[in-house]
Amino acid sequence: MGEYFDPQISIAIDLLRYSNKIVAFTGAGISTASGIDDFRSPGGLWTQFNPLKYANYSVFLKTPKYYWQLEKALIPKFENAKPNKAHKALVSLEKKGKLKAIITQNIDNFHQDAGSKVPIVELHGNMNHAYCMDCYTPIKRNYILKWLKRKSGIPICPKCGGRIKTNIVLFNEPIAEDLLEEATKYAEDCEIMLVLGSSLTVFPANQIPLLARKAGAKLIFINKDPTFMDKYATLRMLGNLETYLPMIINSI
Ligand SMILES: [Zn+2]
Repeated sequence: MGEYFDPQISIAIDLLRYSNKIVAFTGAGISTASGIDDFRSPGGLWTQFNPLKYANYSVFLKTPKYYWQLEKALIPKFENAKPNKAHKALVSLEKKGKLKAIITQNIDNFHQDAGSKVPIVELHGNMNHAYCMDCYTPIKRNYILKWLKRKSGIPICPKCGGRIKTNIVLFNEPIAEDLLEEATKYAEDCEIMLVLGSSLTVFPANQIPLLARKAGAKLIFINKDPTFMDKYATLRMLGNLETYLPMIINSI
């Protein structure tokens, strides 16, 4: 393994080689190589659209137009974006029979697009899904895209004229209990949790790796920048996920 610059890589390979109960916990950093910026980074989306106004659940309930302005601005970012090598590396890990689940803070559907078939717990929802807040009819993504591109005003339900909500968790909106329970179940039942591209600043999602650790799992962090939870990591690597992750998983 002398060819690797970071000796942690060879330790990670050894750990992953001897476990068949691995869970991945992914955050915004796994999608930056797909052209989706981390909204929190300097110059990121949140500096243009203050999330407390544009992505705030209580504001949305009163004045939904701000949220829809944000979603309209997101269209070009997401429209041609595809999963990258890091998402695909998790598919390889699954094919080796080692990955049991993915818990993600992302809403971009890239794990599914990459071909992941293990259970995917989407703590913050999935932007491809939407529903009518009045009659609960599921609304197709295409209907919303067409509306935002061609019509003015906020999209309304084709069935009852009610208000539509994209199935993503906004600020001040609680995460559904069943999702947290499912994530907790996978966290407490894994031997290794790979924490990939998450700054671990968002509560309660950031508690999931800690639950895994308390239940005896090893935590392997791969992030671009240090996080305030690095002290809990068994191994921590700083670098690009789309380079590190395929390198590690292809060597198992
Ligand atoms: Zn409706």
